[in-house]
Amino acid sequence: MTTPTRTAQSTQPPKEFTAAVVEEFGPNVTVRAEKLPEPGEHQALVKLEASGICHTDLHAAEGDWPVKPEPPFIPGHEGVGRVVKLGPGEQFVNEGDLVGNAWLWSTCGECESCLTGWETRCVKAEYGGYTVDGSFGEYMLVDTRYCARIPEGSDPVEVAPILCAGVTVYKGLKMTETKPGQYVVISGIGGLGHLAVQYADAMGMRVIAVDISDSKLELAKRHGAEFTVNASEVDPVQAVQDFTDGGSHGVLVTAVHPDAFGQAIEMAKRGGTIVFNGLPSGEFPASIFDIVLKGLTIRGSLVGTRQDLAEAIDFYARGKVKPDVTECSIHDVNDVFKQLHDGSIDGRKVIRYD
Ligand code: NAD
Ligand code: ZN
Ligand code: ZN
Repeated sequence: MTTPTRTAQSTQPPKEFTAAVVEEFGPNVTVRAEKLPEPGEHQALVKLEASGICHTDLHAAEGDWPVKPEPPFIPGHEGVGRVVKLGPGEQFVNEGDLVGNAWLWSTCGECESCLTGWETRCVKAEYGGYTVDGSFGEYMLVDTRYCARIPEGSDPVEVAPILCAGVTVYKGLKMTETKPGQYVVISGIGGLGHLAVQYADAMGMRVIAVDISDSKLELAKRHGAEFTVNASEVDPVQAVQDFTDGGSHGVLVTAVHPDAFGQAIEMAKRGGTIVFNGLPSGEFPASIFDIVLKGLTIRGSLVGTRQDLAEAIDFYARGKVKPDVTECSIHDVNDVFKQLHDGSIDGRKVIRYD
């Protein structure tokens, strides 16, 4: 007797699918029909069930960064769905598996970064929804060596934000080297930051949350922040220095305004570590004297490795972190981009596919 598989009951993939496409740089996507891609070696075709909408997707659509994607492209790198077709060659997932695409879509596996546990720094990396079409569509391709493995029973909408926001802040927090019982400031309590508060709390850190919106700070309190600061009302550096009596051990910046980056350096205590996750375009001034005198470490951190991703998903699976999600449809992406720009989303907006 054979056990029926999930795929046995699914119908053949169509020739075309609906996707939200960036046709030219700007704050808008166009929802249109796209030709279904064929999975190549080590690749799988995935039918999507959900995709988070990250602020990076807006940066991508607007062409904010020095290294730009090439329109037309399909954004999205928090996609969750089931494998419906495998390409040729060795494969690392099966048809019917629940998988996700990630920002780190694939890497070369051979360079110094890849060989030393820093695949996130691979110069030949492909990025989901940036250099490779992403999850703002009913179907996508994944590289089965790099895709996220999602535990059965996960809610696809709820788990989606772990694939970028979750892993990014989890890795970023590790990079702050904050120990249990020490303070960490989370600056920016958006899609990334509201998860950073939860990971930091689960990792035993004492959390201080900084944002410019009271509703986000309320969310941070609900998730375990000990102290919150509205940077549009008080001097956030002074507030953190006073509360911690001399500065925070770690500072993680997920904010989308350059002001938060200079402030972060001033919030750290002597010997502290500041990690930048946020990626607004622009620059900020920093005091050379303070950095030297206080012996500060300042690091940039990009998403996480496959191992970081597996660990970040495991925190979710064990109920230690729970993204605050609001469902939307693929036709709402332009509205969501506007809300991201205005900073008016609490938690994450996630597309649900039928
Ligand atoms: P989001 O829009 O959901 O959240 C941004 C938050 O920053 C909002 O809550 C906003 O109120 C807050 N903010 C704005 N100005 C601030 C200020 N001056 N001080 C404190 N907070 C301020 O965005 P998101 O999806 O959480 O992404 C945040 C940033 O992280 C984006 O730039 C995104 O591209 C970047 N990102 C980086 C990585 C990485 O690997 N490094 C991964 C994902 C996202
Ligand atoms: Zn992202
Ligand atoms: Zn490499």
